Amino acid sequence: MRTPFVGGNWKMNTDRATGAALARAVAEGTAACDGVEVAVFPPFPYLGAIAETLRGSRVVLGAQDLYHEKSGAFTGEVSAAMLLDCGASAVLTGHSERRHVIGESDELVNRKTRAALDAGLTCVLCIGETLEQREHGETDAVNERQLRSGLAGVRPEQAARLVIAYEPVWAIGTGRNATPADAQDAHARVRSALAACFSREAAAAMRIIYGGSLKPENAEGLLAQPDVDGGLVGGASLSAGDFCALVRTAAKRAGRPVA
Ligand code: PEP
Repeated sequence: MRTPFVGGNWKMNTDRATGAALARAVAEGTAACDGVEVAVFPPFPYLGAIAETLRGSRVVLGAQDLYHEKSGAFTGEVSAAMLLDCGASAVLTGHSERRHVIGESDELVNRKTRAALDAGLTCVLCIGETLEQREHGETDAVNERQLRSGLAGVRPEQAARLVIAYEPVWAIGTGRNATPADAQDAHARVRSALAACFSREAAAAMRIIYGGSLKPENAEGLLAQPDVDGGLVGGASLSAGDFCALVRTAAKRAGRPVA
């Protein structure tokens, strides 16, 4: 049984005070959900403060991005070592907003993914097709390409610290989610591609989480799918009540319901 992973991607939201309050509420509201790995991904400037807020809790602190170089003349960038120094132990790579708004290439996503894993961080590699690609029947090909290029050079022993987030771009922040059947289909294919990258055993142990307008009202069906091992949550993660409800749904799915 894979331990579900539920992450809250706060994007460019909150400030020092509201971020700390949200982190505190998530820590308190998920304290009993020990069957789920819970993470929050606040903006860079608040990582240190939120690490303090989360000290002693079981909530993992993650960053939304990193740069693959160790140090040097890379103005505005943040290294894996800096994230660890601030108390983060996880990071997102390849989020659709980095790929499609900022313009990150598959190659850059791969460098970042390898840098994160080499530094000892848990890496949540995000993949997913645009609406146009979906309408052209390219969903599986896009997922497979982003997966293979994102994981090039990743060593099999690093797979245990890797989580894959399948996030159809058309579902992110739109209020439109994949159906449970579509999500299961995509996740099962992603798991087969992971088996080809690593091994069947490694793929069977890896968490593949769904992202795209996940909220308490649609989570039961999505998180009940056999290959859906949790979620990456954007909008709904800014409400402690909604995010904790999603974590409780994941706990129930894992057979560890919380009253
Ligand atoms: C995300 O940012 O990864 C995401 C899934 O956003 P939302 O839940 O708002 O669609």
